[in-house]
Amino acid sequence: MNILVINAGSSSVKYQLIDTDKELALAKGTVSRIGMSASVLTHKPHDRAEVKVSAEILDHIIAIEYIVTILMSENHGVIKDASEIHAVGHRVVHGGEKFSSSVLITKELMAELRNLIELAPLHNPHNIRGINACMQKLPDVPMVAVFDTAYHSKMPPHAYIYGLPYVMYKRYGIRRYGFHGTSHRYVADLAAKKLDKDRSECKIITAHLGNGASIAAIDRGISVDTSMGFTPLEGLLMGTRTGDLDPAIILHIMAREELTLHEANTLLNKHSGLAGISGVSSDMREIEESVDENKNSALALETYCYRVKKYIGAYAAAMGGVDALVFTAGIGENSSIVRSKSCQGLGFMGIGIDEAVNAKSKGIEADISSMKSTVKTFVIPTNEELVIARDTRELVESH
Ligand code: ADP
Repeated sequence: MNILVINAGSSSVKYQLIDTDKELALAKGTVSRIGMSASVLTHKPHDRAEVKVSAEILDHIIAIEYIVTILMSENHGVIKDASEIHAVGHRVVHGGEKFSSSVLITKELMAELRNLIELAPLHNPHNIRGINACMQKLPDVPMVAVFDTAYHSKMPPHAYIYGLPYVMYKRYGIRRYGFHGTSHRYVADLAAKKLDKDRSECKIITAHLGNGASIAAIDRGISVDTSMGFTPLEGLLMGTRTGDLDPAIILHIMAREELTLHEANTLLNKHSGLAGISGVSSDMREIEESVDENKNSALALETYCYRVKKYIGAYAAAMGGVDALVFTAGIGENSSIVRSKSCQGLGFMGIGIDEAVNAKSKGIEADISSMKSTVKTFVIPTNEELVIARDTRELVESH
């Protein structure tokens, strides 16, 4: 079955067409700068070179039209006509408390998704736009929504409730939801396989370190805690986001700098994290390259890794032990420095890295644990699109 996986953002749509029989991405690409000048479609068929198409792409409907057209094109296509797209799987950021697993998209579901916009005003509207565009362009094709929050939906109340008046939870749904669930689920399941155990038998800590970053405690197949919270701002230090922060600080800065809500939001989400501390870049590669000549880059790197380490300790405590630690996403898969620093000094709890293997492991599956360690440390490249494709197939087939 061919599943078109769509991840729609505010000005971009990422896509993959996945043949689920072979678990092969036939083609992948991105439409960027939607609604701006110089929109561009970057498309890579699995067996040919990447192409870039410049076009005027004013909205998500036109973006989907370009994607479907290039998938069928004579030179760059991988299918003959649109009937070879058997289903569409959509990444939806927020499923609220309602959705604990992926669901088939219906008219009723669309209404429920619109109700969730309040919880994720920065993400869900764009996901909905992507779904609507596909409904217009591929009206007879079944579609599935796969939520970033779903995997964390079984967290116990003591992990998701904040120390606010309980009425805030009841009135506004203010609680920890967690994100990157599809990625945590994919790498945790693979780690259990590598341990040669059923997922119900192991305690795993998964660190998804990309531009956005989160870490999760997976206790016998269930995410029992995760570092992102009501929004993706909480937890680890990120490319441009603060992560954990004393909430009084923002009130203080807003008062001192006379910031509006919008400006405060931008400060926390866009100008903080690695970029904010280093003043150099939000990109870990540039941070690593500049640590020798820039003290603040070195500080940003130390702060980043220290926070990962603190969460590893916290989640081992939360689960009463840990069998495996997994690093994934851009930084987790590629940065041996971050992996090494984040695990330094954790020998007391059985975590130890073989530095020679670690240094060689870039973007590939690897067991980087030292001989002495009792906890396995793995690098596992994530594949959220494959999880979306698998869920979509399963739901479409069962209906
Ligand atoms: P996104 O959250 O946007 O999907 P990614 O998972 O692609 O992000 O991760 C992007 C991050 O990965 C960036 O900080 C980038 O610098 C980092 N990264 C990618 N390759 C390397 C590398 N070889 N060494 C260190 N960091 C890397």
